[in-house]
Amino acid sequence: MSEIEKKEKTEAAMLKEKLAAKKPSGALSLDKETISLADEFCEGYKTFMKTSKVEREAVRTTEKMALERGFVKYEQGRQYQPGDKVYVVNRGKNIGLAVIGKNGTKNGVRLVIAHIDSPRLDLKPNPLYEASDLALFKTHYYGGIKKYQWTAIPLALHGRIVRLDGECVDVCLGEEPDEPCFVVSDLLPHLDREQASKPMGKAIEGENLNVLIGSRPFNSDKESEQVKLNILNILFEKYGIIESDFLSAELDLVPAFQPRDIGFDRSLVGAYGHDDKVCAYPGVIAALEAEAPESTCITFLCDKEEIGSEGNTGMQSSFLNSFIEDLAEADGMAFRHVMAKSTCLSADVNAAYDPTFASAFEERNSSYLNGGVIITKYTGAGGKYDTSDASAEYMGKIRRMLEDNGILWQTGELGKVDGGGGGTIAKFVANHNVDVVDLGVPVLSMHAPFEVVSKVDVYMAYRAFAAFFKS
Ligand code: MN
Ligand code: MN
Repeated sequence: MSEIEKKEKTEAAMLKEKLAAKKPSGALSLDKETISLADEFCEGYKTFMKTSKVEREAVRTTEKMALERGFVKYEQGRQYQPGDKVYVVNRGKNIGLAVIGKNGTKNGVRLVIAHIDSPRLDLKPNPLYEASDLALFKTHYYGGIKKYQWTAIPLALHGRIVRLDGECVDVCLGEEPDEPCFVVSDLLPHLDREQASKPMGKAIEGENLNVLIGSRPFNSDKESEQVKLNILNILFEKYGIIESDFLSAELDLVPAFQPRDIGFDRSLVGAYGHDDKVCAYPGVIAALEAEAPESTCITFLCDKEEIGSEGNTGMQSSFLNSFIEDLAEADGMAFRHVMAKSTCLSADVNAAYDPTFASAFEERNSSYLNGGVIITKYTGAGGKYDTSDASAEYMGKIRRMLEDNGILWQTGELGKVDGGGGGTIAKFVANHNVDVVDLGVPVLSMHAPFEVVSKVDVYMAYRAFAAFFKS
């Protein structure tokens, strides 16, 4: 600043410049090169999304990427050297990628943890029935959905069936344009007077999320439920399964949409399941690219976050801890001492400010599309219930890391204080005496069948995870 410019500024303007927080400049502050790097990064993200709609598929896609980059399956008890790249898989639904650091686990590990399950419609154990000459599946929704959003959209069937003979059959049907898909019907507006008078949460009830799967009878024999029989026959011919095999199956109906650019300027990506694959993918790439870091770095993709991180593939399970314990033992360290020195980024999304629903947000403490990666100090609900509120010290550390690396970032809360709430895996990691904070990508229409993110924010999440692994 020249002397003349300085004189032209008022005393108040100069003091303001010195003391007041600067309004984040968002994508305005980015040069063309960074924006094109973000666009390029999201091409890879869209490819990942096409083959990763449910957790088993996300694990398979990630394992393939890891093998291509020289990762090998971890062997418990083996001594690893700095720079070695290993991975672990839990029940086909979790994958952990670890790059052994120069100091191994002695100064703790760096953890990036994202979840790869997303809200969807699961099949009930006895799903198949016939009504009025139509064949349908009964479903049980998984995670937080607005039920009306799941009617009248194309759905694809993903998952696994285990037959009585022990054979596993993987299913993925409805994604290709020439494959059949499925749909939940809705009432026509001409006849919806009763439905339209109900509150939105009651207009479509869980028990009405029945999926249309066929309508033709098997033949003209005088047998009952011929349409259902025809579907059973098709399923037997295609997958070798009988009706009771649904009892030992995990079959999910997910939106049959493909990831697509949004907007004339192609600045955004629309897809099913951004929450939380939009943090999983950047975390995976950061791990794949990590070269001989100081401390061992781990990207871990977990399951069951959307239903409370329960079960043996959720973050309340001991799987990841056991893996860290194995790494610690190989270094002659106790698990508890490693965890006490470890740091974690709970890589999860937050709600992006939506001008159409402005009243749900508090604009001074919201995250914005194109504002960069978002740090969420605490999640939870009401009076900060059910959250691990990150410490000032750890916030300071992460903030410094982002600034030092020129990463576009912002902070935010999940909507208005009394508006509702939500949680992430952060608190389960914090329980093990680890410093943890949520850091991820802002999402518009979160948990809808088609969610929206900004390409710049996805890229900044990757930059943040890469910088964290170098810290
Ligand atoms: Mn999430
Ligand atoms: Mn979620």
